[in-house]
Amino acid sequence: TKIPNTETHNAVRDTDARHHLHPFTDTQALNRKGARVITRAEGVHVWDSDGNQLIDGMAGLWCVNLGYGRQELINAAHEQMQVLPYYNTFFQSTHSPVTSLAQAIADITPGDLNRIFFANSGSEAIDTIIRMVRHYWTLKGKPYRKLLIARENAYHGSTLGGASLGGMPHMHGQCAPLLPGIHCIRQPYWYGEADGLSEDEFGLIRARELEEKLLEVGPDNVAAFVGEPIQGAGGVIVPPRTYWPEIQRICRKYDVLLVADEVICGFGRTGQWFGSQTFDFQPDIMSMAKGLSSGYMPISAVAVGDRIADTLIESGDDFSHGFTYSGHPVAAAVALENIRILQDERIIESVASDIGPYFQARLRDTLSEHPLCGHIEGTGLIAGLALVKDRKTRTFFDEDVGTLCRDECTNNGLIARACGNRMVLSPPLVISRTEVDEMVDRLRVALDRTY
Ligand code: PLP
Repeated sequence: TKIPNTETHNAVRDTDARHHLHPFTDTQALNRKGARVITRAEGVHVWDSDGNQLIDGMAGLWCVNLGYGRQELINAAHEQMQVLPYYNTFFQSTHSPVTSLAQAIADITPGDLNRIFFANSGSEAIDTIIRMVRHYWTLKGKPYRKLLIARENAYHGSTLGGASLGGMPHMHGQCAPLLPGIHCIRQPYWYGEADGLSEDEFGLIRARELEEKLLEVGPDNVAAFVGEPIQGAGGVIVPPRTYWPEIQRICRKYDVLLVADEVICGFGRTGQWFGSQTFDFQPDIMSMAKGLSSGYMPISAVAVGDRIADTLIESGDDFSHGFTYSGHPVAAAVALENIRILQDERIIESVASDIGPYFQARLRDTLSEHPLCGHIEGTGLIAGLALVKDRKTRTFFDEDVGTLCRDECTNNGLIARACGNRMVLSPPLVISRTEVDEMVDRLRVALDRTY
């Protein structure tokens, strides 16, 4: 690959500073040092314009599950572009990439999630779900079932719907007033909040906050409960095993729809196709994005259970919702090829029984005694590490050690992410053992240098 010269890179940085408004970024601070210009990527590595090779411990933004440079995905896009680069799926038309992908998703999702609605991003999938569940209850003759219940420290995207549903205060202030009708319960963060309870006890207690909330607002007013199987952007909060089955029991008891936001967990990250399978519950609706196309094309989907889909269909009316690029043929062709590779190369099986357990063990063997490491949690190829000032008392730092540690990781050739006082990793699913070793060793050096 031809790497452009330094002069070109400086020009890129200057233009970036002049014209590019970055998402989730303090642009003023960024412009003082200039953005890192990423020039190319291959496998689990990316290169920047200074010639540094970095191991991508975040698979981009939790999405490049097959790693960079997969020729089959490139070919799928190229071939589809030549045949049919675009057509809409709005007005009585369809095409084979979208029908094949819908069938493939229906086949890999558990239970009766047989109908698939397409969008372009996780946020759009979540907004679709908000509209769909409210419409569903109106069609069922219960228009008063409008409320949604989600959790503190959840991330469900950054459209108004997604940000309102999410439980991140910094996402709320800037766009207030938020979407009305959303209630929140606490997260199942055992290490940080359990106060001496066992994991199992704590999981049940936090799940039962859903029942308390339902009784407070009136269960008949609630459309759905929404949660990520593992909270990703919240810092990889892995719920106790008791949590999700209890949430499911409560949802069924009060006839509240159960929504799994699988945008991060879906497509093998936890060692099964979906996080809800790993945590033993059956959603009525599921959102997915990111790993659906390994990030090669923007595409998301909502998998809808028969009960809801049949009601929408039997209403004999339009569902007045959709996007110009719903079911985009090129994105669909890439996603379909992505699923084929995951299946043919048995990649998810390897996350479950080989590389996932290796990664989890290697993290714990190398880091669990580190003075900054309070706790490591994770499963498959996703993990979070709590940074603490005092391991014995589980005291967290007041200062932002996460950002310090993240910067030390980058200096040391590792892209990791800090979510508050937690370091998180979510590498491509195709990472090798040697690359896992390299990633974990780089994280250890970064921790040594942080404090
Ligand atoms: N839901 C979850 C669980 C996510 O992690 C994200 C993004 O990180 C989203 C929704 C939003 O997805 P997008 O950024 O594609 O809109």
